[in-house]
Amino acid sequence: MKSILENRPQLSAEIEKVAEVALYLWQKGWAERNGGNITVNITEYVDSEMLSLPAISSPLEIGTVLPALKGKWFYCKGTGKRMRDLSVRPMENGSIIRITDDCAHYEIVADSPVRPTSELPSHLSVHNYLIAKGSPYKASLHTHPIELVAMTHYRPFLEKDVLTNILWSMIPETKAFCPRGLGVVPYMLPGSVALADETIRTIDSGYDVVMWEKHGVFAVDVDIMDAFDQVDVLNKAALIYEAGKNMGFTPEGMTQQQMREISEVFGLPK
Ligand SMILES: [Zn+2]
Repeated sequence: MKSILENRPQLSAEIEKVAEVALYLWQKGWAERNGGNITVNITEYVDSEMLSLPAISSPLEIGTVLPALKGKWFYCKGTGKRMRDLSVRPMENGSIIRITDDCAHYEIVADSPVRPTSELPSHLSVHNYLIAKGSPYKASLHTHPIELVAMTHYRPFLEKDVLTNILWSMIPETKAFCPRGLGVVPYMLPGSVALADETIRTIDSGYDVVMWEKHGVFAVDVDIMDAFDQVDVLNKAALIYEAGKNMGFTPEGMTQQQMREISEVFGLPK
């Protein structure tokens, strides 16, 4: 069977980016077993021929109604699939879906009938929020970065922007490349509506990267590579903090004045 990616260089390039990020997640030890999820809004790469392609599944329920997603298309990691497998065979370990006109169902369009992640309702709720707000962000990433997750096991770090300030102060690039910091969502059941709602509320309050206490991160950005970069930059800062602790001291961190200077020179958002 012909792949939906054939003769669609832009769509193929987006899916290749997802595969590349999936490989990095595996190499970093952030994606054990089937851990982590990726969804990307690919609607802009859909041509007229794709619109008339038959679905290879019956309409499946999202479980919620998402009005901003009418007719939108997404690439999603498959349920139970491994990032390390997705990195080499993205269309066997993920699928392309389109949202039906009732905004309550989706159909799988290509290449194999891989059921999307069980986290689909929460990921799609975030995309629904982003589209409704007119955001340019197209990708969402959930993964388990070891050192960042470890930091959420220490209660004083969970207060608002304590982690943001520690991580920003480890190395100037952290604030430059992750200028909105790290939001924190208290522990909630994975996959729950409450967790999805609180994640959206935290993104709405100004964060691109949200830390789920004792679980992982949820990041949004213009594409999957940028979402990955933000998490990577933050986890690098966490590694520097940990390295200092391993040497027997608590890292001093840059001063507030030094960090303000970074914001002014780089013209960072407040
Ligand atoms: Zn997880």
